[in-house]
Amino acid sequence: MQARFTKAFKLWMPRRVVFTADALQKPYGQSIYEMVKSYNLPIEIANNNRITGLRGKTDRETYQIAKSTLAIVNAPPSAFKLRPIPPSADFQFHLAEGCPAHCQYCYLAGSLTGPPAIRVFANLPDILENLKNYLIPQRTTTFEASCYTDPLSLEHLTGGLGKTIEFFSGLSHAHLRFVTKFTSIDSLVNINHKNNVQIRLSLNAHTIARVLESGTPSVLSRINALRQLALPKANGGGGYPIGVVLAPIMPIPKWKQAYLTLLQELQIALDFPCNLTFELITHRFTPGSKDILLKWYPNTTLEMDETIRIVKKNKFGGTKYVYPKEMMKELKSFFEFEIKHRFPNAAILYWT
Ligand code: SF4
Repeated sequence: MQARFTKAFKLWMPRRVVFTADALQKPYGQSIYEMVKSYNLPIEIANNNRITGLRGKTDRETYQIAKSTLAIVNAPPSAFKLRPIPPSADFQFHLAEGCPAHCQYCYLAGSLTGPPAIRVFANLPDILENLKNYLIPQRTTTFEASCYTDPLSLEHLTGGLGKTIEFFSGLSHAHLRFVTKFTSIDSLVNINHKNNVQIRLSLNAHTIARVLESGTPSVLSRINALRQLALPKANGGGGYPIGVVLAPIMPIPKWKQAYLTLLQELQIALDFPCNLTFELITHRFTPGSKDILLKWYPNTTLEMDETIRIVKKNKFGGTKYVYPKEMMKELKSFFEFEIKHRFPNAAILYWT
């Protein structure tokens, strides 16, 4: 495949970087300090270990202030009690919380509270060591690292994802998975991951990405990154097992054509045998996430109309709004058919 032209993506640079004094005492906190300093970013130290100054006069102002702030803190004790994350993995753990991009459907709106600042955990080595306590005997245990952040979005400022991949390469019977929309993969390609790591790229129809995924690299550059990650090491690639997370799937006007274009581009890029999976996630929202997203993006064109959705209850009684049954059926059979037909060796892990 010939490399296709994609617009260069500008790496995120925070306007404000704050370290808590405790975080700065950690060797990994120190290494982040050096990386941030190399970009000449202004650095503050919060001696009382609290990050303040994240709120503005309006919700939108708070959003803007928080989203341009990088805080380096120690993760609290609760970060050492891992929770399951079906159907994605056995357990989730976190390198950071928050993300510098501006997706108008962002799933973090329903899972994190408070101003959406980006918090990186300086005690990452302790978090990683703790994972050993969660290994399930007699089988491979899977760990998901992208529930509360896009870990690659911060890699140029922290190096934490590379450290995490290296940690997993030394663990037997443990598997790391994460998903990203970002494409600065050069530092990951040369790591000897020993097939213990699966990198998934989140993809969507071009129009959806252009309108709703501000602050992220283009879909084509994500596809190129996926190819590079999957290519065998002997061909200059990363040799990683890879995955595609199609999310959030939306039946926009002419959706079949839009998603066909995407799948065709993917097929052209992955023109060699590779270890590939798909995860298919339709758009959904909760009353709480809608409320937050409308504060963050008051002019959004994202459809969140309860009257054309159906209610789905989760096992704790929470409400979410999903597409009606007939639409879900049509979407599901379209994607399953097209994927099986174009990528016969790829597994579809789940549809939701
Ligand atoms: S890249 Fe993911 S985590 Fe970041 S804003 Fe978009 S949806 Fe949210």
